[in-house]
Amino acid sequence: MDFDFTEEQIMMKDMARKFAETEMWPVVGEYDDKHIWPEDIYKKLNETGLDCIGVPAEYGGAGIDFLGQALVTEELARGDLGLATGVVASTLLATDPIHIAANEDQKQRWFTKMLEGGKLAAFCLTEPGAGSDVGGMSTTCKKTDGGYILNGVKCFITNGGVANQYTVFATLDKKLGVKGICCFMVDRESEGVSVGKTENKLGIRLSNTSEVVFDNVFVPEANRLGAEGTGWMTCMKTLDYSRPMIAALAVGCAQGAFDHAVEYSKMRVQFGKPISSFQAVQFMLADACMEIEAGRLLYQKACYLKMSGQPFSQSSSIAKGYCGDMAMKVTTDMVQVFGGYGYTKDYPVEKYMRDAKILQIYEGTSQVQRMVVAANLLKGLR
Ligand SMILES: Cc1cc2nc3c(=O)[nH]c(=O)nc-3n(C[C@H](O)[C@H](O)[C@H](O)COP(=O)(O)OP(=O)(O)OC[C@H]3O[C@@H](n4cnc5c(N)ncnc54)[C@H](O)[C@@H]3O)c2cc1C
Repeated sequence: MDFDFTEEQIMMKDMARKFAETEMWPVVGEYDDKHIWPEDIYKKLNETGLDCIGVPAEYGGAGIDFLGQALVTEELARGDLGLATGVVASTLLATDPIHIAANEDQKQRWFTKMLEGGKLAAFCLTEPGAGSDVGGMSTTCKKTDGGYILNGVKCFITNGGVANQYTVFATLDKKLGVKGICCFMVDRESEGVSVGKTENKLGIRLSNTSEVVFDNVFVPEANRLGAEGTGWMTCMKTLDYSRPMIAALAVGCAQGAFDHAVEYSKMRVQFGKPISSFQAVQFMLADACMEIEAGRLLYQKACYLKMSGQPFSQSSSIAKGYCGDMAMKVTTDMVQVFGGYGYTKDYPVEKYMRDAKILQIYEGTSQVQRMVVAANLLKGLR
């Protein structure tokens, strides 16, 4: 085992940390209040190339390895989970199906399009009637001359209202079950594509979460990724790829709350002493420190397994399930360290706690991760 990072990984991680502290921390509270996607911060992120960590170097992207992507993801989430979620949804989640199933022409076209002036992508899977049970989707792709006609509504889509391109899953015929599912790349400008309701959320308020409506949208055959009916496999592989990144988001969110709490505990005086001198406070910080480190090692193990060509689906779900729950617990405890001040908007820690809740919900809820882990372990898979 090797716990050292490469020079490139360290450089990208440091760049992301600096960006988070200088460009994100001073303004994220304001954006959280306004509940809008921070176009100007994203533009600055685009100038660093960190918005395109999922695009390989040969197509003009950052070209960093999987672990490097996760390290950057963690640092951006330490800055703000909403913005980091938008970045991950675009450059990783919506882009992974291109890595997994696209032919060379499609890679050239869609990776290039992604890099045009810092445009965003969105991953359109969830529907009002198909959340945890995504295989039961109702969005249809009906075959027609030269392509397909898409009809349906996708909901809770990160970047749904601000993306330039959509990665969309639809079924040829619901009766075929998951064997009928296909994956398409759809241009935002296509006729019949519109943005529906934008959600008013508890947390990650910097990210845009919207419905995307497909009303008789013609999609050329050349936009289908992989063969007909392989969309489900592409989707499952995508979630395997993205879950370590969600775990990294969770570690970053917990680390941000923790760092603020450590500083505060040294400064806040009660009973004539800094509260950091009380064992009860020290133990909350020590527990958080151990839990964050355990989560970090879990996502890095999943990255290692993937990069070394070993099965990593189980590790991905373990990391996502553990880190989502860990971030919720740690951020709640860090509010406790701040006492009453932690419950106000005078300090950033309440935002970390509100933001953390999503980590137990999206990309498969904490319950769904346990279902995956249990199914795998009962099959004897590691
Ligand atoms: C802010 C935000 C961003 C999102 N971004 C995206 C995105 O970019 N793209 C996208 O496609 N989707 C996205 N989603 C959707 C997200 O992945 C779903 O909300 C999630 O998968 C859960 O689906 P659901 O909300 O329909 O809950 P449901 O499936 O209705 O679940 C409700 C509850 O029941 C439990 N449950 C359901 N089935 C079972 C079962 N079989 N056994 C035990 N418990 C079960 C769940 O764990 C949960 O506690 C996003 C959601 C949010 C809120």
